[in-house]
Amino acid sequence: MARRRSARRYNAEKKRIAIERIDTLFELAFRVFPYDKALARRYVELALAVQRKAKVRMPKRWKRAYCRRCHSPLVPGVSARVRLRDGHVVTTCLECGNVRRHPYVREQKERRAEAEGRRERERGVSAPRA
Ligand SMILES: [Zn+2]
Repeated sequence: MARRRSARRYNAEKKRIAIERIDTLFELAFRVFPYDKALARRYVELALAVQRKAKVRMPKRWKRAYCRRCHSPLVPGVSARVRLRDGHVVTTCLECGNVRRHPYVREQKERRAEAEGRRERERGVSAPRA
């Protein structure tokens, strides 16, 4: 009887390879973007196809790196305008005008909690356990 590889390990391997390909395609997209925007978009689309096919999550580092509408790579100051407004990071795609807003309340909260902890320590008071 042929030895069967465990389905779980096989799947994990497949997903690892998919992530690798997504990385490569995004790196290519950003590299060719200054010279060939259409080709850059094509690379992003291929990365998206790989991601869907392998059913993996889009790696965090690329999640906000492309426009959801026109698939153009978003380079702040070049193809994207990035502004902070009302507790959101507002990213506007300069290729198609699509706007995405990401709240940063979590970061604000973390920073506040951190500062609070620091103050407590400086005063020599241990922070109460919430
Ligand atoms: Zn766009």
